[in-house]
This record gives sequence, C-alpha cells and structure tokens, in this order.
Amino acid sequence: MEMENKVTGKTKVVCLIGNPVEHSVSPVLHNTISGCLGVDLVYTAFRVDKECLESAVKGLKALNVVGFNVTVPYKKDIIGFLDHTSKEALLMGAVNTVKITDGRLYGYNTDAEGFSRSFKEETGTGFAGKSVAIIGAGGAARAIAIKAAMEGAGKIYLINRTPEKARDIAEMVSNNMGTSTQYCSTGEDAYIDILAKCDILINSTSAGMFPHTDEVPVPRLPVFSKNQIVYDVIYNPSKTRFLAEAEKAGCKTVNGLGMLFYQGVYAYEIWTGMNLPESKVRDLFQSFMRIKT
Ligand code: NAP
Repeated sequence: MEMENKVTGKTKVVCLIGNPVEHSVSPVLHNTISGCLGVDLVYTAFRVDKECLESAVKGLKALNVVGFNVTVPYKKDIIGFLDHTSKEALLMGAVNTVKITDGRLYGYNTDAEGFSRSFKEETGTGFAGKSVAIIGAGGAARAIAIKAAMEGAGKIYLINRTPEKARDIAEMVSNNMGTSTQYCSTGEDAYIDILAKCDILINSTSAGMFPHTDEVPVPRLPVFSKNQIVYDVIYNPSKTRFLAEAEKAGCKTVNGLGMLFYQGVYAYEIWTGMNLPESKVRDLFQSFMRIKT
C-alpha cells in the first residue's frame, strides 16, 4: 500500500503528549493508517513539561484537535482534566487516548483492547475458561489481567518480583470481576509449578527488553510444554530469550508488536468513529510490520 499524506488547511490533527516522546512509534503508526486509508488526519508528538500539562490540554481543546494520546508520565494525571473516563480506564488507573467532542474530553485506555485483539488474531483463540499466568504487575499486567478476566479466563495468576503489586492486581480483578485469582512472588518456588500448568503464559515485565536482551522475567525459566501459548509484550527485540525458549519447546509464541499495533488501531477508531474492516486491518498490520522490522 502507498502511504500518502498531504497536509492542507482542512487537515485534522491528532497528537501525542508526554515526556519524552521522541522515541514513540505512534506518529509512524497513525500516519501510516491515515495514508493507507486516505484519511485527512495527521499525527504529531509534543513533549510537554509537567507544569505545562494543564495549559497543553486547554490548548489542544482550544485548537479543536480531534484527540490525543497520552504517554508517560501523564497517563494517570490526565484523568483529572477529563469530562468522562471509561470504566476500563478507571480500573486501570490510566488513560492513553482522549477524544474531544463538542469541547468535552473523553478518556480511554486502548492497551487492554490492543492486547486482546492481538492475542485473538495471532493465536486464533481467546481466554474463556483458560488458566492464565501473567508475569509482572505494572501497567501492562493490569491491562492484561482486566481484559483476560472480562473475557472469561477461568483462573488468573499474577507473578511478580514485588509480590505486593501482584496482590493489588489480583485483588482488584477478583473484587471487580469475580474472577478467581492468585498471586505469587518470583522469590518463591511456587511460581514454577504455576507456569508449568497454565494454558497461557504472558510476560508483561520489561525484563529482556533491548538493551537488556539477556534477561528473563523469572529467576528460573519454566519447563514449557508444547500446548501452551506464550505471549511477550516486548517487541524490541522481536524474540526475547523467554519467547525463544518457549518456541524451542514447541509453544505457540507471540511478541508485543501486535499489541502495539492494535492499541493504535483502536485509538484511531475512537478518534475517527471508523470501524476498520478486519481485512484492511490485516493489510495495515503487514505495512506496519514492514516498517518496524
Ligand atoms: P511498569 O509499570 O514499569 O512495570 C514493570 C514491571 O516489570 C514490574 O512488574 C516490574 O517488577 C517488572 N520488572 C522490571 N524489570 C524486571 C526484571 N529485571 N526482572 C523481573 N521483573 C522486572 O511497566 P509497564 O508499563 O507495565 O511495561 C512493561 C513492559 O511492557 C515494557 O517492556 C513495555 O515496553 C511493555 N509494553 C508493551 C506494550 C505493547 O503495546 N506491546 C504496551 C505497554 C507496555 P517490580 O514490580 O518488581 O518492579
């Protein structure tokens, strides 16, 4: 697909605010989507200092931009400036996408939906009735745990280096969604059995991410079995050590590029009101993969 995006006086604007923003792949992703679909919408990124967050948000509203993404360190602080925040985003305590309609600010979190769409598309299966082990207890783990619970996971295990953070997510998920949960520290051997018996294993830590590519998220890697699905939210490198070991054991493995892509597609759908056809989305994914790899 050809990417063409000519800016004119009629061009609508979406953007990213955060600090830093220079490393972000969102401008490439969203401008690729606009170019491929022929939508007159341009995406740019603004580094915003902490003391300027409120004036930046007021400015975006005054300029009538379509909406914006929010990244570190403002995903939580932005909630105070919004007129409405989605239930999912409130549960996650983080907003990464804002749409401006009639001067009102609506906040969403697209990470969970991005993860879910990637998981279903790339594994051909879902979470219903499955036992799911999530390693990590940060923002990504929270989004994944909420979505897996919403989509009917039978049991969710939260495994983290700092067990208190795993406990918080486990309690939040069981209290709000009634899903059976358990948490465990990577300092206890119990996690090894949990990882060996779960249907789905997800690394949601940053362990193994470039440049620390030798790292794995647990002190001892589990004995993978070939019927397990192993997902790693990291996309740089495209194959972490954790995924490579799972692949050797014959597991179905997926990296985080799809999650990154689909969370962006969902944000794009929120801003434009478009419901992108699956065949088009697959073409876009291929274009995105060519740019990223
Ligand atoms: P976060 O909130 O800072 O949480 C980081 C998590 O990783 C914590 O559970 C932390 O454990 C754990 N961790 C960090 N270094 C570790 C190590 N060496 N060994 C074991 N555990 C370690 O970060 P986040 O926002 O959840 O992001 C986590 C990862 O997901 C990052 O690599 C990020 O790039 C990726 N991500 C990908 C996507 C995507 O679209 N593919 C979306 C969001 C995030 P403690 O609690 O013990 O500190």
